[in-house]
Amino acid sequence: MEIRFEQTKTPKAKPTDETKLGFGHIFTDHMFAMNYDAGQGWHDARIIPYGEISLSPAAMCLHYGQEIFEGLKAYRTADGTVQLFRPDENYKRMNTSAERMVIPQIDEEFMVEATKKLVEIEKDWVPHTDGASLYIRPFIFATDPFVGVKPADHYLFLIILSPSGPYYSTGLDPVKIYVEQKYVRAVRGGTGFAKTAANYAISLKGQDEAHEQDYEQVLWLDGVEQKYIEEVGSMNIFFVIDGEVITPELTGSVLPGITRKSALEVCKSKGIKATERRITIQEVADAYDAGKLDEVFGTGTAAVISPVGHLKWGDKVMTINDNKIGPISQMLYDTMTGIQWGKIEDTFGWTVKI
Ligand SMILES: *Cc1c(COP(=O)(O)O)cnc(C)c1O
Repeated sequence: MEIRFEQTKTPKAKPTDETKLGFGHIFTDHMFAMNYDAGQGWHDARIIPYGEISLSPAAMCLHYGQEIFEGLKAYRTADGTVQLFRPDENYKRMNTSAERMVIPQIDEEFMVEATKKLVEIEKDWVPHTDGASLYIRPFIFATDPFVGVKPADHYLFLIILSPSGPYYSTGLDPVKIYVEQKYVRAVRGGTGFAKTAANYAISLKGQDEAHEQDYEQVLWLDGVEQKYIEEVGSMNIFFVIDGEVITPELTGSVLPGITRKSALEVCKSKGIKATERRITIQEVADAYDAGKLDEVFGTGTAAVISPVGHLKWGDKVMTINDNKIGPISQMLYDTMTGIQWGKIEDTFGWTVKI
């Protein structure tokens, strides 16, 4: 499929202070768009000026939430080239999400090419500051003007780009996490493994209550017994117990993070024992009491590695590694960000140059 390009006539000024970019506030000059109509398939791929879209008030996505999304980044390396990190994995996962939400499949290779083309056009928007990057948000939603429940016949696929600042401004500050005991995020047979808006909508209440108690994020337990650990708001979770790296296995209610998968591969390449298995919050608390809970960290595209300093489960507050980043977390952070920003050789073949 050809990608039509319509250049903006009103380019915006680029942010001057890249350290103040924050996350998700600023958008570039262009976006990718493509339509799906039943009987015709995906068509009319185009890169057009970034701007508002018009939607029927009856658009199905607004009523029943048929939407999926992805998140990845473009990084500027020291020699000025721009690269993506495992974009094929994002579009593969997008098709898994699409299948679950009865959204038509996309051509993964074409979408990697479309993403490269959009980033190429917007390459001057990729930040230069150490640790800053261009966040890429592909998403698909149902547009049929119909207030009835069924899979839609019409969809819009957009990719928008947002320059974002360094996640950590003052070193890798450990986060405070609260184990959620009242609400659940995902259940057996549900949509936990899909990257869909619905999973976030239902997580807001728990997040809000955690904030009231001065905790930054929620650690979700399984939706049936609330015993097994699943993941954090928008990150997968890892524990280092007695030298072994453990992360919950992908049972269907956990989002299969690409950073998670990469962290496991890095551990294995360094000869560190890394296991995917079910793990209860009780086991973590017991390991803590026995002095064997060495490190806890989250993984996700935004932060890459986010050390956990405090973990609160009911009345029990666990302080991990003296509220400092541990050696395995640091090694993973250095290796993965090193590859992403082209500071160390990518022996895994994960990066894709624009
Ligand atoms: C996107 C996401 C993650 C992290 O996935 P990455 O591919 O590593 O960015 C983890 N949990 C949830 C719920 C997510 O939506």
